[in-house]
Amino acid sequence: MKPHRVRMTHNLVVNYGLYRKMEVFRPRLVSPTAMTRFHSDDYINFLKVITPDNMQDYIRQLQRFNVGEDCPVFDGLFEFCQLYTSGSIGGAARLNDNAVDIVINWAGGLHHAKKAEASGFCYVNDCVLAILELLKKHERVLYIDIDIHHGDGVEEAFYSTNRVMTCSFHKFGEYFPGTGDVHDVGHADGKNYSINFPLNDGMDDKAYKSVFRPVIGKIMEMFAPGAIVLQCGADSLSGDRLGCFNLSVKGHADCVEYVRSFGVPMLVLGGGGYTLRNVPRCWTYETSVLTGEEIKDELPFNDYFEYFGPDYRLNLPVSNMENLNSPEYLEKTKVQLLDILSQVEPVPGTQIQTGQVESQQNPRGMNMEVDMPGVDEGNPDVRISSSDTGSKEHSSELMG
Ligand SMILES: [Zn+2]
Repeated sequence: MKPHRVRMTHNLVVNYGLYRKMEVFRPRLVSPTAMTRFHSDDYINFLKVITPDNMQDYIRQLQRFNVGEDCPVFDGLFEFCQLYTSGSIGGAARLNDNAVDIVINWAGGLHHAKKAEASGFCYVNDCVLAILELLKKHERVLYIDIDIHHGDGVEEAFYSTNRVMTCSFHKFGEYFPGTGDVHDVGHADGKNYSINFPLNDGMDDKAYKSVFRPVIGKIMEMFAPGAIVLQCGADSLSGDRLGCFNLSVKGHADCVEYVRSFGVPMLVLGGGGYTLRNVPRCWTYETSVLTGEEIKDELPFNDYFEYFGPDYRLNLPVSNMENLNSPEYLEKTKVQLLDILSQVEPVPGTQIQTGQVESQQNPRGMNMEVDMPGVDEGNPDVRISSSDTGSKEHSSELMG
């Protein structure tokens, strides 16, 4: 989860020339108070004051807030949280302003953090805070999670509301964080608004596509969200140090392409990803998918070129591991979820969306946020670089 992954991704995106298809902007740095829209005051205060040097004075809080082991204390911890969270909240605000149709924040997607507890390397839940921002404008927001781990923090935050639907595809069974059973469907008003697809080791491109597209297609039809937050954790890729799926970069990105095809305003976030050289490959390719730009497999020279040897290619080979998800299991679980979704009250006045609007989409006018040093200097609303801002059409407008 080191910020280096994001630095490498940014460098590769820049060296492929993809920044020419986007606007880059500095989000306004969010205050600690803004984080307490979701998190408890005492937890945020604790994150503000804790340092490696004063840890021994906070033994009880470290335990209470689950900080110190899986979620270590390091110098600049709070600034780190503030930066990735500012990117996600700022991105949501840009979408609310109709300034852009897609925002990417590869530094975000820390989906495990709870109201008053860190979890799985996640301290502040930027996904939840960004969704809360989107709810200021949109009646319904969809959260989709393709990280190999269950998106438990986001699901929990919105478990009893029908204004946010969460949908997570994840490895389940003796695996962190342990939640995300197919029968966990939400509570009270939120019943049938939490969708979980539990999976076994070895998910490959074809199998993933065979369940992702029908489930998301049904959600779009029944729930008709005004905005989508897509968490693109790269630990579901083949060869991940913590993961056990077998997806190629293209298989992972197929999810991004499919979600984009609906033309609904989208906030795209990062997440897990523990084989360092593969994370920038995946997120750079997904940046190209989101901008509608084809990029070549041969990597351009970049500051971290030596990480990508010996092949120096964007795409990575998958392994010959067995897919432990049988077609029967996948079909059965898919049918279970489609059945749950058929019980969702259809939104009145919405037409059925088909996912076939790709050709109408205008990839221009996108924004990209980066966590840059000195982010609090100067006017945060002034773009630090931009190009190709000629088009003002947005797919969200096209969709009416
Ligand atoms: Zn993960």
